[in-house]
Amino acid sequence: MRRSSRLIRNAVVVVVATMAVGSIAVAGKAAPAVKALVGGTLIDGTGAAPVKDSVVVFREDRIACAGTRAACPVPAGAEVLDVTGSWLTPGLIDAHVHFCQTGWADGRPDSLDLRDRYPYEKVEAGLRAHPERFLRADLCSGVTAVFDVGGYLWTIDLPKRVESDPFAPHVVAAGPLLSTMDFWLNLPAEKQFIYLGDDISARKAAHYVFNEGASAIKVWYIPVKTRPPDEMVTAVRCVGEEAVKLGVPLIVHATGLNEAKVALKAGAKMLVHSVDDAPVDAEFISMAKANGTIYCPTLTVVGGYLRMYEAAATHKPPVVDDPNGCVDPLTRAHVAETASLTLDPAVVQQKLDRTRARVNAANPVMADNLRRVVAAGIPVAMGTDAGNPLTLHGPAVYAEMEAMQADGMTPMQVLVASTRNGALALGSAGKYLGTVEAGKVADVLAVAADPTLDIAAMRKIRLVIRGGVVHPVPELAAPAR
Ligand SMILES: [Zn+2]
Repeated sequence: MRRSSRLIRNAVVVVVATMAVGSIAVAGKAAPAVKALVGGTLIDGTGAAPVKDSVVVFREDRIACAGTRAACPVPAGAEVLDVTGSWLTPGLIDAHVHFCQTGWADGRPDSLDLRDRYPYEKVEAGLRAHPERFLRADLCSGVTAVFDVGGYLWTIDLPKRVESDPFAPHVVAAGPLLSTMDFWLNLPAEKQFIYLGDDISARKAAHYVFNEGASAIKVWYIPVKTRPPDEMVTAVRCVGEEAVKLGVPLIVHATGLNEAKVALKAGAKMLVHSVDDAPVDAEFISMAKANGTIYCPTLTVVGGYLRMYEAAATHKPPVVDDPNGCVDPLTRAHVAETASLTLDPAVVQQKLDRTRARVNAANPVMADNLRRVVAAGIPVAMGTDAGNPLTLHGPAVYAEMEAMQADGMTPMQVLVASTRNGALALGSAGKYLGTVEAGKVADVLAVAADPTLDIAAMRKIRLVIRGGVVHPVPELAAPAR
């Protein structure tokens, strides 16, 4: 505090050293266009060693300088935020979300079918009209950019709709999923799952989502027992060829080693789930490295289904892991309602048993594969699959990051996966995101504990800065019911 007063002449000093964040002058209220965060320990997201007693200067929505006090003098007239005692990181990037899903069963009636009470058309219309509760929950949780990797067409417009909104993360979207399975979960007049039939329809489907404005082409590669495997392999390959011609990345959901290899042969730039049935082998690793494929392990999503089924079976409300109070009242009410649902107990028990068996079998394989992928130097990006039951938009990132750490990544590796590599996953849209470096968009978090010792420190977020706009976390928290 003293030091900053001495160093900074003509500067408006705002003290947040004690993290008394309520005292911060928030942008929008005639705040100076130049701001400086002073005194925090900077972890820039590149994996470089932290810089103690740092200065980060913003001009409008961009970072002008980030580094030591000597390297980044505070400009005269800047609004200074003293962040002594906190750690500064890039905003988190969740590289795997779905805004067409709610975080509960109403958006995934193939989990628990509640359509008599919550008609699917109505749920989807509500999401389209009001995505802001999830956008705010993201930002409140420190998530400043997300990749929606599959949903109805309106999600493709979301990036433009929210880019200038200081209460929303940056959004990149892939639009409808091209699926090897003829999946029923669609609206009467619109598909989020487009069936990949023969090679001609596969190529047409790729052009369709591209022409609608998708930033990537997403394939949902589910091996269907009643289809000849070669037919599905051909369809995925054709989509991959078109993605190359169209100049957009191919993203594939493939959880089996065979399917993942087909995806890599088709040129996949990102795999949005772990391989969970067998150890990744040398062929997988060499293809992933040759493609520059990003591996998004998505470790915790099936556990969310498991906790929902447990709550439905035991009639106890599930725990909501939301340390900063970011989850909106409607979502909270729905999650709590799981305990009082009247469902066929035999159906719930069967789902519970099946999901528990799946989690128990997959988790050790996913952990082992994450270690293999990291050891091979394949870039890993953090993604939660938010929107699936009990994987809540926003705070789901904490459990996901902690799972990555538990599976052997260092806290710093997890942080890079959740920032710089997330930006890499966003493709060209992520060019100016993901690190705290000059020229990048000013998306920065101030946290009250050291995330290089334990990634769980990211739960202790105090400030979220999105495009240079400073939000104390309590300002972003969900309104009371
Ligand atoms: Zn997903």
